[in-house]
Amino acid sequence: MSDKFHINLSPSELPERWYNVQPDLPEPLAPPLNPKTGQPIKPEDLTPIFPMELIKQEVSQERWIVIPDAIRDVYRLWRPTPLKRARNLELALGTPARIYYKDESVSPPGSHKPNTAVAQAYYNKQAGITRIATETGAGQWGSALSFACKLLDLKCTVYMVKVSYYQKPFRKSLMHIWGGEVYPSPSDRTESGRNILARNPDTNGSLGMAISEAVEDAATHEDTNYSLGSVLNHVLLHQTIVGLEAKKQLELVGEKPHVLIGCVGGGSNFGGFCFPFVSDKLSGKLDCEIIGAEPSSCPTLTKGLYRYDFGDTVGLTPLLLMHTLGHTFEPPGIHAGGLRYHGDSPLVSLLVDKKVIRPVAYPQNPCFEAAVLFANTEGTIPAPETSHAIRAAVDEALKCKETGEEKCIVFNFSGHGHFDLNAYDAYMEGKLEDYEYPDEKIQEALAQLPKFPTGI
Ligand SMILES: *Cc1c(COP(=O)(O)O)cnc(C)c1O
Repeated sequence: MSDKFHINLSPSELPERWYNVQPDLPEPLAPPLNPKTGQPIKPEDLTPIFPMELIKQEVSQERWIVIPDAIRDVYRLWRPTPLKRARNLELALGTPARIYYKDESVSPPGSHKPNTAVAQAYYNKQAGITRIATETGAGQWGSALSFACKLLDLKCTVYMVKVSYYQKPFRKSLMHIWGGEVYPSPSDRTESGRNILARNPDTNGSLGMAISEAVEDAATHEDTNYSLGSVLNHVLLHQTIVGLEAKKQLELVGEKPHVLIGCVGGGSNFGGFCFPFVSDKLSGKLDCEIIGAEPSSCPTLTKGLYRYDFGDTVGLTPLLLMHTLGHTFEPPGIHAGGLRYHGDSPLVSLLVDKKVIRPVAYPQNPCFEAAVLFANTEGTIPAPETSHAIRAAVDEALKCKETGEEKCIVFNFSGHGHFDLNAYDAYMEGKLEDYEYPDEKIQEALAQLPKFPTGI
């Protein structure tokens, strides 16, 4: 089945369980706090917006969680995904390193996101829910959830950040084809949206605002739940199917990774990809560097604080201990829309704090440069988000060229860029600005952090 450059698993090798990193962490996660009382939240606090099965997964200490057959049946539409050796890229760089990438771009919506969308739709359906409300930025999550809801026969309502709604029409088309209802956010459908519009009618919208709207929609409708595409523990749990497959595939070709790389927005593709290797690293079985690549215009892991903060702008969500730039942070309009979030996964944040994961930040031009090199050697056009991982992989491979080290570098190819071509046009025309977020602005947003115990 497998040859050296294209390593496939057979459908029967699709993992049967997800891996939960929580029992293997260097210390337990700090609990989410109720935003009103500052006390740890109880599972019942979350039932207005999440089904119990996902709440249980959020706090589970079980290392392995069985993937229901109905979910594996949908996964088989595109999984297992291939692990590919980027031989042409290696040759172009003249590196002695071996570079592999796990190709999550082969899913119908074109990214890793349906791995959790399908699971979340399934557990909501099991709980008797008929509609899911969510937010989306550039549209990857909204399209993945619309796709999943269609396959599981649920309705899907998507609050799409207003500027993307008008500037990125094609993922909106995907959502419509897959039966999703899409509204530009802030909208007049929710009190949060109406309040924001009253204060600032011309706002571009932001992910934090759209989250406030979707949460409110779910909390005020009995038949409707909310779904988040990243950040939360259960989302990263579902994404571990990526790393579990990659681990098997590397074993098939007798490789042990020296460097693992992913791009980080809320941390779900990165966490899902690297967590199955983290326990081996922590137990000393695997000597491997794990690198999370983020944009320097939204430098959550490299410049944010490790503090309790809200997940949304308005302050409706529980407080999570995470790396954050502050919930009032409004990131500049870079093209890697999926990486523009003020916070980060608490699991990834803890591992960064414990120095198990090393974060790096890149401006967008060097990322597009690496993405175009990838497209010109390996063929596939990467999503702007994914280009951050490619930049880091190229830099690691170039270091090997200097030292002569024959490292095995593996990165997660989180998605393709077929709906982001205007970003490539802007890059090719030299119109992309590199934006280093000014430190004063970061300090301003950090000063707005809620005053709660840090837990550290
Ligand atoms: C959404 C998205 C990301 C960022 O989200 P994470 O939760 O950090 O993975 C990265 N790459 C692609 C292609 C995406 O669609």
